Amino acid sequence: MITFEKLYSMGHEEVIFYSDSSCNLKVIVAIHNTILGPALGGTRMWPYQSEEEAVQDVLRLSQGMTYKAAVSGLNLGGGKAVIIGDPEKDKSEALFRSYGRFIESLNGRYITAEDVNIGVEDIEHIYTETSNVCGVAITHGGSGNPAPYTALGVFKGMEASCLRVFNNRSLKGKVVMLQGAGAVGRNLVKLLSDAGAKIFVADINEKNIKALLEIVPDAERVGVNDVYDLPCDIYAPCALGATVNDNTVNRLKCKIVAGAANNQLAEPRHGDHLRERGILYAPDYLINAGGLMNVSIEFEGWSDSKARRMVETIYSTTLKIFEISEQNNIPIHKAADTLAEERIESIRKIQGRYLGNHSHRFPGRKRRHPLD
Ligand code: NAD
Repeated sequence: MITFEKLYSMGHEEVIFYSDSSCNLKVIVAIHNTILGPALGGTRMWPYQSEEEAVQDVLRLSQGMTYKAAVSGLNLGGGKAVIIGDPEKDKSEALFRSYGRFIESLNGRYITAEDVNIGVEDIEHIYTETSNVCGVAITHGGSGNPAPYTALGVFKGMEASCLRVFNNRSLKGKVVMLQGAGAVGRNLVKLLSDAGAKIFVADINEKNIKALLEIVPDAERVGVNDVYDLPCDIYAPCALGATVNDNTVNRLKCKIVAGAANNQLAEPRHGDHLRERGILYAPDYLINAGGLMNVSIEFEGWSDSKARRMVETIYSTTLKIFEISEQNNIPIHKAADTLAEERIESIRKIQGRYLGNHSHRFPGRKRRHPLD
């Protein structure tokens, strides 16, 4: 049962349910924390089996966004939205425009973007009704596809990890086990290959493997179940979450875990376990923040060079987290949380909750005219 106690047990500021029966819209927006700025996080559309399942997902995802923005040095809070529905059957212009009007009513406390099953064409409908959306098409002043920036951030995280483990940030000659030949994987493989790494790749999708091998023909394919047993320098999870779990953590024969997937550790204790095994873990929500950094500058005026400069800071932040981990003798995932929490706490003390007074930074673009 959904209770107030459960809804607010993770420290959320606001959890809002909205529905519009005319277009079958059912959405839940969770605003976790706005101390650093407006809550930014994508909208996911998923055929959840129950409202409880949807609530659980949106609470967890929005909390994750707070940490990701905070540790990345962004002036943003954490939020997320889930639309309960089947993306194959339930999408319509009316649904997304109704959703856009609802977001507009939140007055900028929540800014949305793409997430699972939400594409640029859906975002464009939302953008017709509200300026509090990013990830819009480049032709409308947006930043386009975030995957190249996410891949660049992961690559920077890998360089920082190599410096830590091998005393040299170069990936030349390093063996990388890439799990996932999707949008991020295909961008990452090019950076790795250009840097002189040897790449192994696994994916369940033939088409994506083929597309990756066209980019880097000498990458070697391995079976999806062999990923965890392959001796390598870096295991790069770029497919799905929770792949460092009870079944895999003892099998890993790598020195570093660094990839784009969210929530790579099935549970925090798996981060402790990696540490005990002497495997360095580059915190997932930091090194995969390139896509978030990229959309975050849409409001100030996006440019590729500005986005890249920002994403490159992931290198130094990753090193800082390694240092905090060593100085305090705590696992790396805890060091990342500590850095994020300390930043939020320091800003909380000086200015309290975000009161919508950041209009100089988030002026909002002009709403897209329906006739544009
Ligand atoms: P994607 O859907 O384009 O690619 C994922 C790939 O993983 C697909 O090719 C899929 O077939 C493959 N895959 C699924 N299950 C697999 C398995 N068991 N073994 C091997 N391969 C499997 O997604 P993406 O945009 O490339 O993102 C990759 C990961 O990074 C996701 O977990 C995503 O949540 C995360 N992430 C992506 C971004 C971004 O900018 N796209 C940003 C932050 C985090």
